[in-house]
Amino acid sequence: MTRIISGEAAPAEAPDKALRPQTLAEFVGQQAAKGNLKVFIDAARERGEALDHVLLFGPPGLGKTTLAQIVARELGVNFRATSGPVLAKAGDLAAILTNLEPNDVLFIDEIHRLAANVEEILYPAMEDHVLDLVIGEGPSARSIRIDLAPFTLVAATTRAGLLATPLRDRFGIPLRLEFYSKDELQQVLTQAARKMNLSLAPDGAAEIAARARGTPRVAGRLLRRVRDFASADGSPVIDQKTAAKALARLEVDEAGLDSLDRRYLRALIDNYGGGPAGVETLAYAIAEARDAVEDVIEPFLLQQGFIQRTPRGRMACGKAYGHLGLTEPPKAKL
Ligand code: ADP
Repeated sequence: MTRIISGEAAPAEAPDKALRPQTLAEFVGQQAAKGNLKVFIDAARERGEALDHVLLFGPPGLGKTTLAQIVARELGVNFRATSGPVLAKAGDLAAILTNLEPNDVLFIDEIHRLAANVEEILYPAMEDHVLDLVIGEGPSARSIRIDLAPFTLVAATTRAGLLATPLRDRFGIPLRLEFYSKDELQQVLTQAARKMNLSLAPDGAAEIAARARGTPRVAGRLLRRVRDFASADGSPVIDQKTAAKALARLEVDEAGLDSLDRRYLRALIDNYGGGPAGVETLAYAIAEARDAVEDVIEPFLLQQGFIQRTPRGRMACGKAYGHLGLTEPPKAKL
């Protein structure tokens, strides 16, 4: 899915890396998660032990990878990163685990996409720091046990609900990341602009923050696109007017919705009378993958009260009708 306000990282989003905050203090927002992490990190460092396993969950682009890197840096240990879909075989994970040094941080992104046979060897590794591997096949197969260095698994998922309970239960520190407030995003943008050597006026930052879907990755991406428009127009400073003009050209509206969000709402209202409609049906109607609809489009629309999730499917709320300039039909009497 290519869209300017997708929370998902585009394949070659290199500038993202340079903008990543390096310390907990520099990491804007997420006060609850940050506060807890700080206590646990300080305690683990003091005892010289590995930090308990951390599960980060929340929509894409809210800072899960960034936070995992910060945890390693604050602990003063190595950071190794991989992801659920990349670990196809148990041996892939075993190779990584056996190479970890004591107390290292292993980051597994998209942990909900881990294959069952890989997940199985992860359990004893997380719990007892051992690997139980079966070598060979048939009658000559034998199982061996390898001791591992203690390590911290930091896992990220967009949907904690997709994790098997035994896996979820093995994380001592589960942390949910929330969408960012406008003020927090404005701070993220100001920090990013400084690193990019950009002249961003406070009202320009506010304008972009208001349309960034509560998501730092979206804020960063919009900032880069707005910068392009500003330099094409020869504007030395990105102020509210420059930002608003650029964002209008990018078809991001004042609520932060883009054409895909509006298509989703339109499909729900025009094709299915405002719902209830199943997510599969809606994904089909707008020609998007169900995962993208559930991970990227819906969380923000739900959080902002444009839609509602009911046992019978998604329903459009009054705010969705208002936003599209439509009149909400009278509710059926029960
Ligand atoms: P996720 O892993 O949840 O998809 P990332 O950690 O890759 O998200 O963050 C996406 C982008 O947003 C990165 O460029 C990062 O620098 C920026 N970012 C995320 N959270 C913050 C934050 N709290 N403060 C500043 N920048 C942030």
